[in-house]
Amino acid sequence: MSETARSRAAALPHLRRSRLAKGDPIPLPLTMAAIFHAPGDATGFNQYGRFSNPTWDAVEHMLAHLEDAPCIAFPSGMAAISAVFFALLKSGDRILLPSDGYHTTRALAERFLKPFGVTCDVRPTSTFLDGGFEGYRLAFVESPANPGLDICDIAAAAEAAHKEGAVLVVDNTTMTPFGQRPLDLGADIVVAADTKAANGHSDVLFGHVASRDAEIITAVSGWRETSGGIPGPFEAWLVHRGLETLDVRFDRMCSSAEVIARRLKAHRAISSLRFPGLESDPSHNLARAQMERFGFLISFVLASEDKAEDFINNCALMQAATSFGGVHTSAERRAKRGDAVLPGFVRLSVGCEPVEELWRAIEASLDNISA
Ligand SMILES: *Cc1c(COP(=O)(O)O)cnc(C)c1O
Repeated sequence: MSETARSRAAALPHLRRSRLAKGDPIPLPLTMAAIFHAPGDATGFNQYGRFSNPTWDAVEHMLAHLEDAPCIAFPSGMAAISAVFFALLKSGDRILLPSDGYHTTRALAERFLKPFGVTCDVRPTSTFLDGGFEGYRLAFVESPANPGLDICDIAAAAEAAHKEGAVLVVDNTTMTPFGQRPLDLGADIVVAADTKAANGHSDVLFGHVASRDAEIITAVSGWRETSGGIPGPFEAWLVHRGLETLDVRFDRMCSSAEVIARRLKAHRAISSLRFPGLESDPSHNLARAQMERFGFLISFVLASEDKAEDFINNCALMQAATSFGGVHTSAERRAKRGDAVLPGFVRLSVGCEPVEELWRAIEASLDNISA
């Protein structure tokens, strides 16, 4: 971890400190309010729950500290992605999406942008720069892409996009601001599903948009206020609490994933393992250059659908669940969700369990299917 990352992590639990008055609670109070006391000219104060809320302000302050950029919070990752599209695009625009990224982003463009006259093309993450960005208003990168874990050179994509007047958006869900810093690499916008590792406890959906461009932030926040796609204060409060431990959780998960990926790769039951932290991975050199950590997701293929199901369902320290980034290790056979992968393809999200115990459980379940 770099010195700036360490000082960012150290300051995170103390962000409210300078604003506390004597007797104020140290933990964040939860403000459940649709209306606020607003006599006379109420500008500059909270007025109505669709415009602002002190609990959002606190979680946005934390996210802004982590991203080193203004942030707007949303009730889910998809709400954040929708806000970027609907606030910035107009009829006649052309956009470029990853063909191997989170499938709902493509579904959103196909089903709801196309009818408004926005054209959408797709390219694989590993060759996203091939063909350049001429004619595009917006290019959208997910790196590492979920679930195949290919990566894209974000700095090169930003440079190429800017040359053609396109905006570069990066979905940083799989990495969090501790694992990868797309805005520092030149991206214009970060979107993230804080539903995953940022909150980390699998009990809430949440998302955010980060940008250092004031016009973009104004447009996205105007979209939220007008469309009404606002986060609930209680969800914001939970994410605020989750973010306080992101640094320790993410550190443990990434360190464990490095150990587990190496051992999985050597196991006879496993093929086509992808983890950007392994020297043998096609993404490794680029990952070393652009990522702060290698993440906690590992993907691999087992011999069949049944073997993959048995491996997941019979591992004592693994939850069979979609989503990822929780404190508990979880895994999913992604063909089930319609991803274009083999029936035995597994996406594993390494959790916070002590690594040797976790490995013993994983190895026992693998031995069981290869016996
Ligand atoms: C989960 C996810 C999303 C969507 O987040 P929700 O909170 O489920 O709306 C977007 N992008 C990626 C990469 C994701 O993994």
